[in-house]
Amino acid sequence: MSASRSITDVLVIGAGVAGLACAQDLCAAGLGVRVLEASDAVGGRMRSDRHDGFLVDRGFQVFNTSYPQVRRRLELRDLWLRPFTPGVLIHTARGRLRFTDPSRRPRTLPDLLPGRLAGPRDLLALGALSARDMLAPVRMVKHAEDRTTRTALAAAGFSEDFVETFFRPFLSGVFLEDELETSSRVFHLIWRSMLRGTLCLPGAGIQAVPRALAATLPDGAVSLETPVVALGDGGAVTAAGTEIPARAVVVATGPGPAAELLPGIDVPAYRVVTTYYHVAPGSPLGEPTLLVDTARRFLDTVVLSDVVPGHAPAGAALVATSVLGTDGEGRQGAVREALAEVYGTDTAGWDLLTVRTVPDALPVMTPPQPLSRTSRVTAGRYVCGDHRATGSVQGALASGARAAREVLRDLGR
Ligand SMILES: Cc1cc2nc3c(=O)[nH]c(=O)nc-3n(C[C@H](O)[C@H](O)[C@H](O)COP(=O)(O)OP(=O)(O)OC[C@H]3O[C@@H](n4cnc5c(N)ncnc54)[C@H](O)[C@@H]3O)c2cc1C
Repeated sequence: MSASRSITDVLVIGAGVAGLACAQDLCAAGLGVRVLEASDAVGGRMRSDRHDGFLVDRGFQVFNTSYPQVRRRLELRDLWLRPFTPGVLIHTARGRLRFTDPSRRPRTLPDLLPGRLAGPRDLLALGALSARDMLAPVRMVKHAEDRTTRTALAAAGFSEDFVETFFRPFLSGVFLEDELETSSRVFHLIWRSMLRGTLCLPGAGIQAVPRALAATLPDGAVSLETPVVALGDGGAVTAAGTEIPARAVVVATGPGPAAELLPGIDVPAYRVVTTYYHVAPGSPLGEPTLLVDTARRFLDTVVLSDVVPGHAPAGAALVATSVLGTDGEGRQGAVREALAEVYGTDTAGWDLLTVRTVPDALPVMTPPQPLSRTSRVTAGRYVCGDHRATGSVQGALASGARAAREVLRDLGR
């Protein structure tokens, strides 16, 4: 085993958004930081690839402009964000319905009226819930009683029909589970962030977000293709056998590798999601809107090139469709069939460009769900990532920020 010469103040293992946020705060405090990343680029679960002229994220995800950590760390202008329409289309047995946030597009209010999507009781409940989640101090939302989202929605006065037609299909794509069993605190925080911000995609793919974070670090701070295989007494050991000494080590690797590097920490179970990327000869929708399905044959589908034209070359459209779980047998045919029905077009000729399965997509967040946990493990060892907070970009960034605060405090800074 060889040893690296200089002593780094802090080693951050993993260049996902949690590790990058942690490194950003430690560097800002004047510490010497090295980020060791196993793969060939930063981003972790927020990576994008080019495929035959198409831009494909490693699993479909959206970017929310209202996350406090996002606003604190990123210059949104530099991300060339392209918005979704504020709402969703819902494929139901009685045809396609539209839910549009009436606070942003008052002219669309009739879409929510009785006989269409919601009855008077649901409209009232929606107004009350949205006003409270949007305007109440965030600590009230964070400290409210925690129960399942299904229980909270029933308690808020929504009819079973509205829950099944709107909330369940829509939130299944947000929580990556379709039983509404996720913590109501998490639901209220997400609902708040949706009301306050805009759902969008960066023009250069979701990886633009971690790239922008990494760009704020000093040159040479991130070492790619440097997997860490063990933690030593005072640092970390890479797969090449180099021991890198450091005063503190922050493990920001995602749940599985974190449990290996730090035996004894508890990590939650994770949701698995698969995204199918199809190429169509033209947009089957013609608008940048998420489409969900009350039959729950998929979580959501979107014509990505309607949101960001650069996702597909001229003359083609790129459609992303996510399902729970893996790409099991018969799944591709079933998805293609469902897409033919919901888009009302023949999908037999659509090419399947690629399939992305993410085994550790989002932590299971059933109640009681702590919204943030300490990063301290043992003296000099810390852990951060979405599994220590909430499964979201906000959660991962906030967890990185907390780890940095705790390291600084322990190092007497
Ligand atoms: C399909 C999908 C959809 C999502 N949708 C949304 C959404 O719409 N909105 C939202 O807010 N969030 C969404 N998320 C969640 C969000 O992307 C994650 O919460 C966040 O990216 C997690 O970041 P992280 O830094 O905690 O972990 P990761 O991104 O997993 O980063 C861990 C890093 O550590 C590296 N690493 C692992 N082992 C080692 C090792 N031994 N040595 C060195 N490096 C190592 C990995 O290569 C990786 O780069 C989605 C996630 C997925 C996958």
